[in-house]
Amino acid sequence: MADIRIGVAGAAGRMGRMLVAEAHALPGCVVAAASEAPGNPAIGQDAGALAGVGALGVALTGDAQALFAASDVVLDFTSPAATVRHAELAAAAGKALVAGTTGLKPEQEQAVAAAGRTAAIVRAANFSLGVNLLLALVERAAATLGPDAYDIEIVEMHHRHKVDAPSGTALALGEAAARGRGVKLAEAAVRGRDGMTGARRAGTIGFAALRGGDVAGDHMVVFAADGERLELGHRASSRQVFARGAVAAARWAAGRKPGLYSMRDVLGLT
Ligand code: NAD
Repeated sequence: MADIRIGVAGAAGRMGRMLVAEAHALPGCVVAAASEAPGNPAIGQDAGALAGVGALGVALTGDAQALFAASDVVLDFTSPAATVRHAELAAAAGKALVAGTTGLKPEQEQAVAAAGRTAAIVRAANFSLGVNLLLALVERAAATLGPDAYDIEIVEMHHRHKVDAPSGTALALGEAAARGRGVKLAEAAVRGRDGMTGARRAGTIGFAALRGGDVAGDHMVVFAADGERLELGHRASSRQVFARGAVAAARWAAGRKPGLYSMRDVLGLT
């Protein structure tokens, strides 16, 4: 069987460089193309050299269409606007897309989901196995520990460069908790507190975001009651765990029938 041709969007970014290295290391896969934002100074540079794995003969392009034409599946950890554009290109070309960008507005998220009608799209706010198991555990705990006695608070910490808050993973954990309780996160969420907030309202799901240093991603979901506290958490010590999961998702998605898939599908947790 021919190698799966992997394209990496945003290949000069923190995740992009790691994705190039992971895809290059995976048997049965080849880094076939790589892109950057038009005008980015890394355009024309070799993707492998940028990723620290030696030259691969793949120069970064600013032409997203060329990226899709040369790939069976594209890995996208870029920016919300770029991810929407890439989802549209994946749909038009019938190529698979693994989309990890966070901070999308609801209408942007819908645009990515719509591309799943004509292309295989794997969408996840977090590609680690541990976090995907945590999502299932949080849903279960939220279903068991009712809102009358247990208050749910979600705390996350990330490196100083992160631009969106709360993290996509924290929001996914909130969605899992809301699902467990049979409520809508949009109605239950309290995103950040400051000043005279008044007492905590029962049934809400609170978020707090810390930023600093080089933290790859810490998440903790607290179920706090009178007299006890259950804490379910995950700490990523390297971004490599996300890159490895995303590349595994790419291998799974290449050539798959159109649909909007999650890491649960990739990991067989559904
Ligand atoms: P980064 O800023 O280091 O990298 C993003 C790269 O995308 C930049 O190099 C930027 O120039 C490039 N880019 C922007 N627009 C582009 C376009 N139109 N075409 C091609 N490239 C374009 O950021 P990062 O730390 O690598 O994170 C990227 C995104 O991935 C963020 O939204 C982050 O939250 C998310 N992320 C998700 C996971 C996950 O598991 N789902 C894990 C880590 C990070």
